[in-house]
Amino acid sequence: MPDEIKCARCGQKRAPLGYSPLPTELGQKIAFDVCQPCWSEWLQTQTRIINHYGLDLTNPEAQGFLLDNMKGFFYGATELAQIDTSKEGSIKW
Ligand SMILES: [Zn+2]
Repeated sequence: MPDEIKCARCGQKRAPLGYSPLPTELGQKIAFDVCQPCWSEWLQTQTRIINHYGLDLTNPEAQGFLLDNMKGFFYGATELAQIDTSKEGSIKW
């Protein structure tokens, strides 16, 4: 585990979260990609999303929705760029 990473969200050089917050590939990625302050920020955002939408996290659809939001939160710009590029080839004018 490196002492410092360039955080995927804030772009600052900071200590990484350092542990996988989810038992998934995304969780492993976040452990190395995201700084501790940004993770705390996500936890607050997550609570707001859950309350706002009244999400029931025993429901797989609600879990998927929250995961999509998490990806957007940390990797938003990259994801959008990828979507745009993939559309280019498939749209016929
Ligand atoms: Zn950060």
